[in-house]
Amino acid sequence: MMSAPADASEALRDSAPRPFWTDRADAPQACAPLTAHTTCDLLIVGGGLTGLWSAIEAKAADPSADVVLLEAKEVAFGASGRNGGFFSESLTHGIAHGLALWPSEMPTLLRLGRENIAEIIAFLESEGIDAGLRMCGKTAVAIKPHQLDELRESTALHQEFGERAVMLDADAVQADVHSPTYLGGMRVLSGGGLLDPALLCWGLKRAAIARGVRIHEGTAVTGLVSDGDAISVRTPHARVRAARVLLATNAYPPLLRRLRSRVLPIYDHVLVTEPLSAAQLSDIGWSDSQGMTDSGNQFHYYRRTDDNRILWGGYDAVYYFGNQTDAGREQREQSHRLLAQQFFETFPQLAGLRFTHRWAGLIDSTSRFTPVFGTAMGGRLGYAVGFTGLGVGASRFGARTTLDLLANRSTERTALQLVQRKPFPFPPEPLRYPLVQVTRAALAREDVSGHRGIWLRTLDRFGIGFNS
Ligand SMILES: Cc1cc2nc3c(=O)[nH]c(=O)nc-3n(C[C@H](O)[C@H](O)[C@H](O)COP(=O)(O)OP(=O)(O)OC[C@H]3O[C@@H](n4cnc5c(N)ncnc54)[C@H](O)[C@@H]3O)c2cc1C
Repeated sequence: MMSAPADASEALRDSAPRPFWTDRADAPQACAPLTAHTTCDLLIVGGGLTGLWSAIEAKAADPSADVVLLEAKEVAFGASGRNGGFFSESLTHGIAHGLALWPSEMPTLLRLGRENIAEIIAFLESEGIDAGLRMCGKTAVAIKPHQLDELRESTALHQEFGERAVMLDADAVQADVHSPTYLGGMRVLSGGGLLDPALLCWGLKRAAIARGVRIHEGTAVTGLVSDGDAISVRTPHARVRAARVLLATNAYPPLLRRLRSRVLPIYDHVLVTEPLSAAQLSDIGWSDSQGMTDSGNQFHYYRRTDDNRILWGGYDAVYYFGNQTDAGREQREQSHRLLAQQFFETFPQLAGLRFTHRWAGLIDSTSRFTPVFGTAMGGRLGYAVGFTGLGVGASRFGARTTLDLLANRSTERTALQLVQRKPFPFPPEPLRYPLVQVTRAALAREDVSGHRGIWLRTLDRFGIGFNS
């Protein structure tokens, strides 16, 4: 690594401690909280992408269904309004990971992932939702020599599975995006792109309301109990008696206790710069404005915004003892400073650029980096959590799968091992925290040396991992 520029802290000095995407004057007005008892056919808990797609798809399956969505804060408050906006067809956290876990299902999983994003695009078009979607693919870069072989293998794998991918040498990748740190890169032209996640959430919120979904924001669900042939749902001011309940609550404290062992709440940190000047834009190239990631276990993801800022996130994924998810965790000076330093190492020509926004978002990591699906309470409660940092596209697949499970419908989706089998559980505290720290340290060592140590190889044998 090059030495850190001295002005990282200075560059952060005036940044606002809130997500960039939702910080807009034209944010929609929040729906009123729930204040009176009610009943419904389906109650959805959580107003992120998983919850919103669940509402829209439930109405598509049965327009007469009475659907209520309750959100503790406001729509897009969680990961769905805080992410990088990378829109991917992958349902398996990448091709290599899917192949390692479900080799025989991979062709089906790829097809379902491609159908999923095609249907999302068609939906946005038919609803007139402008979420700034650009199907520009992405580039993954090597910044350490050992990552070059991994990228070559990854390029071959992408090609084998029908993606348009090419390996670029250092000169070619640096000619595209001007960073002295790049040693090579894989340019993938298919399989996804970038969007504005807040505009997506707000567009889906409008579409759900237009279909008759009753949305209440500022309404936290505080408990669920069986109530004859329904579920009684407690909120601060009123109860809901719902025939079915769908939990779309990411890694926030789970309303169903068993989810604690399957989902690890991890905070992922993000910065956004001020808009770049024309001179600064020409200093970095990047004419396709595609999404960028570097390789390694601890990786950055970065992209340009429509108004020529750079969003820069990732690397320092933090787990707090005892699954803490209080709002105080959304700011961590150490992580934001580290991110700022790494930004200027990647783009030294941008020294002097300032950050306007800094935040963190909650990632629901599972030990196999794909969601856990299931039902409880006699099949009346369904859940889709654990998208592990790749849920912008996959959340719609997760929503549809959980609706299938709740309706007791056997479909191609519900037959998948990805759906039927649960990820390996994480141990409870006080073991959980030290094991996560040991694993993070082992991953960081591998990033430096290129060698997978004995601890990680042991976890691999059980199909267990730590990722954001
Ligand atoms: C920093 C960051 C970057 C990411 N980048 C990408 C990316 O570039 N591409 C990608 O594909 N994925 C990315 N992800 C992941 C992606 O954002 C999520 O997987 C996706 O948005 C799906 O979110 P969700 O709806 O399941 O959860 P959320 O959006 O978190 O929604 C859950 C909602 O449930 C509400 N809630 C929780 N408990 C209750 C309760 N008891 N009562 C009522 N409401 C409750 C919360 O307030 C929250 O709004 C990223 C995530 C983070 C945090």
